[in-house]
Amino acid sequence: MKGPITTSLFSLFKAGPGPSSSHTMGPMRAGCLFREACAALPRELAARAASVQARLYGSLSATGAGHGTDAAILAGLLGWTPEECPPGMLRKLASAPEEKHFMDLGGKRVETGLSRMVHDDVHHAHPWSNTLELELLDSGGNALFSREYYSTGGGFVQWKGWQEPETGMPAHPYSCMDELRAIARNEGLNIHEILLDNETAITGAHRKDVIHRLNMLLDAMEESVRRGLDAGGVLPGPLGVQRKARLLWETAGKRLSSPERFLTALNACAFAAAEENADGGVVVTAPTCGSAGVLPALLYAMRHEMFIGDRAIREGFLSAAAIGFIARHNASIAGAEVGCQGEIGVASAMGAAMLTDALGYSSHIVENAAEVALEHHLGMTCDPVGGYVQIPCIERCAMGAVKAFNASLISRGTDSGAHRVSLDAAIAAMAETGREMSRKFKETSLGGLAVSMVEC
Ligand code: SF4
Repeated sequence: MKGPITTSLFSLFKAGPGPSSSHTMGPMRAGCLFREACAALPRELAARAASVQARLYGSLSATGAGHGTDAAILAGLLGWTPEECPPGMLRKLASAPEEKHFMDLGGKRVETGLSRMVHDDVHHAHPWSNTLELELLDSGGNALFSREYYSTGGGFVQWKGWQEPETGMPAHPYSCMDELRAIARNEGLNIHEILLDNETAITGAHRKDVIHRLNMLLDAMEESVRRGLDAGGVLPGPLGVQRKARLLWETAGKRLSSPERFLTALNACAFAAAEENADGGVVVTAPTCGSAGVLPALLYAMRHEMFIGDRAIREGFLSAAAIGFIARHNASIAGAEVGCQGEIGVASAMGAAMLTDALGYSSHIVENAAEVALEHHLGMTCDPVGGYVQIPCIERCAMGAVKAFNASLISRGTDSGAHRVSLDAAIAAMAETGREMSRKFKETSLGGLAVSMVEC
């Protein structure tokens, strides 16, 4: 039996550079944590340090090049966090692969650089697919200190020997949807009220500050859409993918039929945020970078097409967080662990919950909307072409947003109280499907579209 969910909202939703939460933000954070760990070493040991080397395993090794993983680790070693890393920094680092860089270790300069990032075995025995080993070496290449990090999806990082950090106890403990539903029923609360109470209890933050930070995240999401709608040109990498968000937006303006116009605008917004992500722009993990077009597209539509108020949207956003927490706690939100069902599928479920809650529907219907959205992503593999978060990821964000909208319509239109599939059942199915899925379909670019598109 798993313990209650004690993750903060601001660990799930984080603003930072794309294109990948597990392959960019997570490794950057690992680099940063390693730098901090090295700074705490005894002075005699640190004095002998000459260089830092990284070894990438599993999906990080297979698709790290297209995800900007090497540059992200380097940026972390140089002291940048995902929150503070300036836009364009990763591209600048990647553009000079031979350049030497130096990690500051208490005044001593320790050499590192992209040439010291070694892509090791794709198939390995470490507990997480996205494994990264960082080593501090002396001048003879002997390891003085090393640590094994795991990028577990959504920008979360653990390491060998990691212990769950101590937090306050949630005001309403739950570990799955059954328990959350029971709390809502027994205590007469909405999901968003439970989430807000829990956040203040877990983190000790004041309610007013939590609301302020949520508003900032929502604005950052909208900003990613706006930037993407304004941008044009070709995305980085060898695929030559043209940005299409602006074209879709212009097309939406010409459509006379209102359903067509709405759906085209929704697609445009999802493309916009997803293209920003693919270009290394700042997005919000929702729950990951690869799926970072889904929630912003719905948010934009809710604000500017459906004219839903800020408070209702924020409450919907909290319900979305509940779905993301439960999926992560009981399955995974990492493409490298369960395929794309854990990224776009969960994002779509979160989006369906956000919209349905914001429209004022009960927790029961919110859950059903999330379940319907997730159910129809089950089995979806992760097969990014060339290891770039572009094909199929960008279009998948649009499909995830449209499915979320439809899932909300279906659950609102069929509320008889007789839904047969619970969200927990859909999440259990996702976990089982992910366990059985071949590794070649889990963010390694060794199967699916990543292979067929290249071979044809
Ligand atoms: S295919 Fe899906 S899971 Fe894989 S990188 Fe793209 S968005 Fe992420």
